[in-house]
Amino acid sequence: MALPDATPSELSSSDLATRLGAVRTGVADAAREAGRDPAGITTIVVTKFHPVSLIEELYALGVRHVGENRHQEAQSKAALLADLDLSWHFVGQVQGKKARQVRAYADVIHSVDRESLVTALGSEDSSLDCFIQVNLTDDAMRGGVDPLNLSALVDSLLAAPGLRLLGLMAVAPLGEEPRRAFARMRELSVELRTQAPTATALSMGMSQDYAAAVLEGATHLRIGTAITGIRPVLS
Ligand SMILES: *Cc1c(COP(=O)(O)O)cnc(C)c1O
Repeated sequence: MALPDATPSELSSSDLATRLGAVRTGVADAAREAGRDPAGITTIVVTKFHPVSLIEELYALGVRHVGENRHQEAQSKAALLADLDLSWHFVGQVQGKKARQVRAYADVIHSVDRESLVTALGSEDSSLDCFIQVNLTDDAMRGGVDPLNLSALVDSLLAAPGLRLLGLMAVAPLGEEPRRAFARMRELSVELRTQAPTATALSMGMSQDYAAAVLEGATHLRIGTAITGIRPVLS
């Protein structure tokens, strides 16, 4: 099982509370600077590689949205913490053959990036919230759909049963000013709304660049290390 079993470096809870508080303040400051209501911004704490105990501590501190990027780890954690009122955000690449399993525990999938995955995720039985991930790099191996193919993917997602498109997701590429990359996402989001008027959300901004993301309209921040501390290395 791909689940970390113990807290590898003795993380102090008060450090966790301090870092969480600092990020909450940072988000509120950026929202104010952007003239936005911080209540319109959801901070997802990305807890990948960290033990379940860390998620329990975050929960006690008021966190209700957690993100994971590896299926087996996410599945185990969601099962162990099923009693907690948490929203599980899957932010990693989804293998087609695992799609139905991911769907079973994820409340939101941020990484829909191809038509075969839309087909695999579609369901007549229940509704799943999703983001389409956009690849802002020239490297096709990165997750995300090429912006040129976005409109076609949106059409197929809108036609698929049981999938609700919330908006677009991206990771800022290395070597580009994050704010410029996020500004491109903002433009893509405006275009998207002509096709899918309710798909107004933007999942972008991580530990290093969340303030820039808020300034460009992010509604969902995916923040890991700035809150959790350094990720433990799994053996
Ligand atoms: C790990 C991860 C994050 C969080 O990254 P940090 O730099 O630790 O904040 C956000 N989004 C995705 C897709 C990730 O895989």
